[in-house]
Amino acid sequence: MSQTKILLDESDIPTHWYNVVADMPNPPTPPLGPDGKPVQPDALTAIFPETLIQQEVSGERWIRIPEPVREVYRLWRPTPLYRAHRLEAALGTPAKIFYKYEGVSPAGSHKPNTAVVQAYYNREAGIRRLTTETGAGQWGSSLALAGRMFGLDVRVFMVKVSYEQKPYRRSMMQAWGAEVLASPTNVTEAGRKVLASDPTSSGSLGIAISEAVEEAASRKDTNYALGSVLNHVLLHQTVIGLEAKKQMEKVGVYPDVVIASCGGGSNFGGIAFPFFADKAAGKKVRLVAVEPTSCPTLTKGVYAYDFGDVAGYTPLMKMYTLGHDFIPPGIHAGGLRYHGDSPLVSQLYHEKLIEAVAVPQLATFEAGVQFARTEGIIPAPESAHSIRVAIDEALAAKEANEPRVILFNLSGHGHFDMSAYDKYFAGQLEDYDYPEEAIAESMKKLPKVAG
Ligand SMILES: *Cc1c(COP(=O)(O)O)cnc(C)c1O
Repeated sequence: MSQTKILLDESDIPTHWYNVVADMPNPPTPPLGPDGKPVQPDALTAIFPETLIQQEVSGERWIRIPEPVREVYRLWRPTPLYRAHRLEAALGTPAKIFYKYEGVSPAGSHKPNTAVVQAYYNREAGIRRLTTETGAGQWGSSLALAGRMFGLDVRVFMVKVSYEQKPYRRSMMQAWGAEVLASPTNVTEAGRKVLASDPTSSGSLGIAISEAVEEAASRKDTNYALGSVLNHVLLHQTVIGLEAKKQMEKVGVYPDVVIASCGGGSNFGGIAFPFFADKAAGKKVRLVAVEPTSCPTLTKGVYAYDFGDVAGYTPLMKMYTLGHDFIPPGIHAGGLRYHGDSPLVSQLYHEKLIEAVAVPQLATFEAGVQFARTEGIIPAPESAHSIRVAIDEALAAKEANEPRVILFNLSGHGHFDMSAYDKYFAGQLEDYDYPEEAIAESMKKLPKVAG
C-alpha cells in the first residue's frame, strides 16, 4: 500500500451530520438556568436561530446538511487523508500513521466547517449580523469568511493580547469584511466592568464571550455564534470523521486509535464521534483527546456545572472545568486555552468511553518540527499536540513491535503561528508548570448547584 493521499470526490461530501447523542449510553446532561432548572430551548432564541437550537437538543442520529452548505463545503471538502510514510520511516515504526488535513480550508483550520453552517441558518432566520469572540483569531477568521459567504455582517471581539500580537489574523478577518474589536472594549457592560477593575486587562476568551453574547442578546438583528463546545458545533464537525472513515475504508484499513487535540472539543468530536458509533456497536477503537498541561481541563479539572464565560451570562453546563474565571498561562496554542470542555466530550470522558492525555509545550513543538521536516506541512501549535501523541503511539507500537493503525486530525496549518516557532528555535519557549494555585482559586468560585 504505497498511496500517500487518499482523496474523495465532491459527491462524497457527507449528506448528513452524525449526532453522537443517538449512540451515547446515557442522555446528555441538560444546561441549567440561573434558577438551577433545565434551560428551556426557547430561552436561547435571543442569541441563536431555531434550527441550531433544535440541533442542540436533538437525539436524531443523522441530520441532513442543507444543499447551500454542501455547495460552500465544496470549496475545500472533501479534505485529503494522508498516509505519513516519511514520518513512519523517520520513527522506524511498524505502525501505519494517517492524518486528515483540515488546513486546506480558506481560513486554514477545521473551524469553517461549522462557521458556514451557522451563518447559513442565521441568514435563513432573517438575521443580519453575527457577533463572536476569538482568541488566537482562528474562529474569528472562520466566521468572517462564513459571514461573507452568506452576506452577514460580523463583529469579532478579539482577546486584546492576541489583537496586539497577531496582526495578521486581524487582517484576515478584515480582508473578509469583518469588524474586529480588542476585548475588553467599552462598548459592552461586561467589557466596561472588567476595564473598571483592571484598565490594562489583556483580556481572555471568557471575557470576550461575555461581550459578544451581551451584544447579541440586546439586538434583534444580531445573533451570536460559538466556535466550539456546544452540541451543534460538534455535530457540524463530524464531516471530518465521516470522510475519514470512507477514506480509510477505501484503502482497507481501520484505526486502532483516533487522536485529536481538544480545546472546546469540536475538533476531537469532529473526527472521533463517527468512530464512536462503531465503538458503541462493539468495535474496538481508542479515542484520545489531547490537551496542554498548562490548561488540563479533562485530565485535571472537575466534572461539575459551570458557566461558559467569565461574567456568567451563559447557561450552566455540566463539563470538565478549571473554573470559569481561570486564565491559563499564555501558551502558543491559543485554541486550547478554554477553561471548560464540550459537555458531550466531558460526559463520554466521565463514563470512561474516551481517553485524554496532557502534553507539555516544548515536547509539542518538538513533534511539530519533526512533522514539518518529514511530512512538509507546518502544523498549527494546537495540531502539534495531536502529533505529539501520534508519535508517542507510533513509538510505543515500535517498542511492542505491533503494526498499529493510528489516525489523527491535523486540524490546521501553522502559517500564522510562525512567531511561536521563532521563539521555539530561539530557545525562548518554556514549559509551564501545572497552574495548581490559580486553578484552586478559580474552583472556589464554581456556581453551587445540585448535581
Ligand atoms: C481551535 C483549534 C483547535 C481546538 O479546537 P476545539 O474544536 O475547540 O477543540 C485545534 N486546532 C486548531 C488548528 C484550532 O484552530
